[in-house]
This record gives sequence, C-alpha cells and structure tokens, in this order.
Amino acid sequence: MAKAFDFGVERLAGTGVAAEAGTHEHSQDGCATGRTFFLETFGCQMNEHDSEKVAGVLLARGYRQVEKPEAASVVLYNTCSIREKAAQKVFSRLGEYRTTKKDGQIIGVLGCVAQQEGEEIFARAPWVSLVCGSASYRKLPQMIAQLEAGNTRVTGLDTDTDETFETEMTRRDNPWRAYLTIIEGCDKACSYCVVPFTRGPERSRASGSILREVKELADLGYTEVQLLGQTVNSYADPTPTSSGRQMRFSELLVAVAEVAGIRRVRFTTSHPRDFGKDIVEAIEAVPGICNHVHLPVQSGSTAVLRAMQRTYTRDEYLEKMEMIRAAKRTISVTTDIIVGFPGETEDDFRDTLRLMEEVRYDGAFTFKYSPRPNTPSLKMADAIPEEEKSRRLAILMEKQREIQAGLMRHAWGRGTNCWLAGNREEKTSGAGIRRITKL
Ligand code: SAM
Ligand code: SF4
Repeated sequence: MAKAFDFGVERLAGTGVAAEAGTHEHSQDGCATGRTFFLETFGCQMNEHDSEKVAGVLLARGYRQVEKPEAASVVLYNTCSIREKAAQKVFSRLGEYRTTKKDGQIIGVLGCVAQQEGEEIFARAPWVSLVCGSASYRKLPQMIAQLEAGNTRVTGLDTDTDETFETEMTRRDNPWRAYLTIIEGCDKACSYCVVPFTRGPERSRASGSILREVKELADLGYTEVQLLGQTVNSYADPTPTSSGRQMRFSELLVAVAEVAGIRRVRFTTSHPRDFGKDIVEAIEAVPGICNHVHLPVQSGSTAVLRAMQRTYTRDEYLEKMEMIRAAKRTISVTTDIIVGFPGETEDDFRDTLRLMEEVRYDGAFTFKYSPRPNTPSLKMADAIPEEEKSRRLAILMEKQREIQAGLMRHAWGRGTNCWLAGNREEKTSGAGIRRITKL
C-alpha cells in the first residue's frame, strides 16, 4: 500500500503545506489548492523513486497526500509489468476500486502497465481517466487539470524524450537514505524483458546536476544515497565537455561519496557487460562506497544466456566474479536468476545450480520465466510447463537458502564476510545505517 510520508513539503521545498482538502479551488496555471491525492506503488526501487518524484510534483502544486483512496480527489497507481503476475495485480486493484469510486474522482494508471497497455486500459477499466508512462510524469499536473476541466480521458505515453525525469522537488519516504535515478530506460534488449518498451531508451543525467542534488540532500541531513538505473553502470555522462568533465560511472561514485555529509553510497542494478575493474577499484579505495554489488546473472548456461541476449557468456560472468572476489575489500554480491526460459534443458538448469555453488551469492532474487508482450522470447519455441518452472524454482531457492545459511554461519564465526552480517556490524558502529536495505 502507499506509504505514509514522514516529513512535510516545507522541509524539501521551503514552501507551505497545502490547504486542507475539500475546498477544491483551482488556479489558472493548473495548480490546485485543497486537492488531495492517493498514490500506490507496485514494483522495483525505480518505481518507488518515481512515485517519490510524482508526489513531489503534485505537492509542489498544492496537492496534499492522503493515506486512503476514499479520501482522495486523485487516485494514482504506479504500476509494474515486469512479470505477468505484477501486471495482473494492477488490474485486480483497479477492479476492487471500481465499486468505491466517488463521483468526480480521477483514477490514473502510471508506469510500466500504463506504457505497455496504453489506451487499452480505458477499454478494460472504463472508470480510469488518466494513463501516463514514466517519460510524461512532468506533465501530470497539466494532465490532471485537463481532466478537472472536463476532459474524460487523458494520456501521456511518449517514450521519445531525451529528458530524464528530474523534478524541482521530490518527496522522500526515508529520512536518511535518498534514491537518485542517474540513468533511465534501457538499450540492452534482453529477449524476455519489457523494460526497453515501457521505459524507452537509455538517458543519463548530467553529473553536475547529480552532484548538485547530492549536496542539497546532504545539507538536508541525508547520509546515504542510492544511485538507481536499470543498468546503473552503463551510465554515460551527457555533460558537454565545454561545461565540465564527463565522468565515468566509477568516477561519479567517488564524487558522490566525497560530498561532505554523505557516509554511504549504494548503486543498483549493475549489468555484467559494463562492470569493469574501475568500479572495483573505486570500492576498494573509498570506504563510503558500499561494498555490495547486485550483478544479475539470469542463467548459468551460456546457451540460455545467448537466447536471452544477455551479451555475456557464463565464463565471462565468472571472470567478473573473480575480479570482484580479488578485491582488497570484501564485496558482497547478490543476483537475479530466471528459471524456465524457453528451451532451458535440465543440463542448462544444472549449470545454473553449479554456478550458484561456485559464486555463493549473499542473496538471490529468483523468478519463473514469465512471457511478456512485445518481447522476442514470446515467440520462442520449447516453452517450459508451469509445473516444471515451479519445480526448478523450488530447487533453486533451496540451494540459495543452503548457501546463505552457510555464509551466515561463517560470518558469525569470523565477523563481516557477508552482506547481512556486514550491515549489522555497521549498524552497531553508528555509521548511519539504521536497518538492512531492501534490494
Ligand atoms: N536491469 C536489470 C538487469 O539487467 O539485470 C534487471 C531489471 S528487472 C526490473 C529485474 C529482474 O526481473 C531481472 O533481473 C530479471 O531477473 C527479472 N525479469 C525480467 N523480465 C522477466 C520475465 N519476463 N520473466 C521473469 N523474470 C523477469
Ligand atoms: Fe531488462 Fe535486460 Fe535492460 Fe535489465 S538489461 S532492464 S533485464 S532489457
């Protein structure tokens, strides 16, 4: 469900809190006073952070956030379509809401399902009046103003913008850790993935703008920054050379960690192809850069990786792992794995189990392959039956449980050798970590 926020808009923007709900005044530039919104977020950290920015955009224009949809004049669902189940959840939530919708209330679908389904959503859920993908969030207040002026259906579905979603204000859920998107979209084209369709091509944010925001965050008292991107380490600084030096991702990590007041810098998700020694060297050299890398492997079989269009082989992935393991600082590694990709044989699956034994991940997010619209793998032959996917997933999860239990026993015996144990130690040493970070 939507999260309550723990501090007001004044702290972020130096502006006053919006007027009480119920007055329903509307100014000429599309700003509202007395309007309220409810926002529920499904999906990944990037979605959570997009929601923080959407909330910021609305709060800056005089809207007030409420905790229950019944109390809101605008109800927004920020959605995820990475797997079929996630997309279904959105439609079932919209269905639940159909019966309780009040007259004049605006219901909007944002995010990946909005981008993927587009105007189809109006056909499936006619009580929805706003459909808006992530590239159009800046226009949300104007879109809502159009609905309030009498339009019955409004869409924002462009993906061809060069802009990243920067806002003048972000309403942050966490008082000490701030998310910061440094690269939007994805150019990698993995054959199973909807992200290139729903979030558009890769666009990086200028390093100068990122560092300015980090300084502002530090001034507001944030001590931890988490840099976000679908492939965060594919970051390509668009700063024009005349106005400043273009930074590599590893240089940006160091620069962010050096901002006074920032104690901890995290980053997710890294793509194996673009993961170089310079990132490991940055982690070795700068204690403020978190010694944790989320490096999704997806499969331990080169044949499956090829079919997935992951752009690396099993051996190339393991070489990256060797580089990480050889670092002077212990670096925790977590991953994502998909089982039951079309054509995955029992041998391919065993290759994945063997790779897990070899790498011994500190954590793994494991998924059954889910066929998605528009993706190349949708048309691939040799689909794996659902029961077989479930069987493989259960084996994989059990393997990971065993590995993690072993790592934890080892960590408790020796100190800080693993991700969870590492965090626990820092917590007690007062380094600004108050709880284990959800990945
Ligand atoms: N960009 C990241 C990367 O390259 O690893 C991953 C982003 S995606 C939001 C998170 C994870 O969802 C992926 O790593 C993958 O394991 C999983 N995923 C994506 N598409 C999927 C699909 N069609 N079926 C099952 N899992 C999927
Ligand atoms: Fe999807 Fe692949 Fe891009 Fe990750 S790298 S977002 S899995 S297309």
